[in-house]
Amino acid sequence: MVIDLDRCTACQACSVACMAENNVPFVSQEEAGKERLMQWQRVLANIEGEYPRARAQFIPRPCMHCEQAPCVQVCPTGATFKNAEGIVMMDYGKCIGCRYCMVACPYGVRTFNWFKARYPETFSNYLNPDVPVRPTGVVEKCTFCVHRIARAKTDGKKVGSEHLPDGVVTACAQTCTGGAIYFGDLDDENSAVSRLSKSTRTFRLLEELGTKPQVYYLKEG
Ligand code: SF4
Ligand code: SF4
Repeated sequence: MVIDLDRCTACQACSVACMAENNVPFVSQEEAGKERLMQWQRVLANIEGEYPRARAQFIPRPCMHCEQAPCVQVCPTGATFKNAEGIVMMDYGKCIGCRYCMVACPYGVRTFNWFKARYPETFSNYLNPDVPVRPTGVVEKCTFCVHRIARAKTDGKKVGSEHLPDGVVTACAQTCTGGAIYFGDLDDENSAVSRLSKSTRTFRLLEELGTKPQVYYLKEG
């Protein structure tokens, strides 16, 4: 994934689309106040300076699907693992809720399911049948909409921003109002993400940790 920060307007459409696509449960205001907000794609705000010279930078933050993923390394049961395409996945049936992965992840993208999934009535009528509702007591996080990739294969569609409008991308990339999010195959040198990841504006979050995130950001120009 490549996210162009110059194009992000912080509208949070990506966060909303992600919740709808992945049946992400709602939490109460009280639980949200305890840092238990469920959002697989969260728009972080970085405020520099003080009013009237303050400057805000907004950073959409999904799972980084790290090449050297600490969460995979510490999981004692194999519940979190990397699939053949490099996506860091969750097997909810194997998760024992020890939360080692949450401690190991330097990006804070994982959340623990304290409660049975709850949705507003209107929302629960439209749950996505391609995505399982997660049980209580397991950890969950962004999957790069792996179900969309699987469906694209069966439907004979191509995956990647360069194949739009007929191709398939993640829900956040599809919905982004500013066109800031690109998705595709980094190993394909002709893909949009591969090309953009080589831009001189590229950086990755906490690169110094050696996790090799597969989400690239483009600095504001
Ligand atoms: Fe694992 Fe966190 Fe990296 Fe995602 S961002 S792969 S949860 S360490
Ligand atoms: Fe693995 Fe689940 Fe423990 Fe995370 S909480 S380390 S996914 S068993």
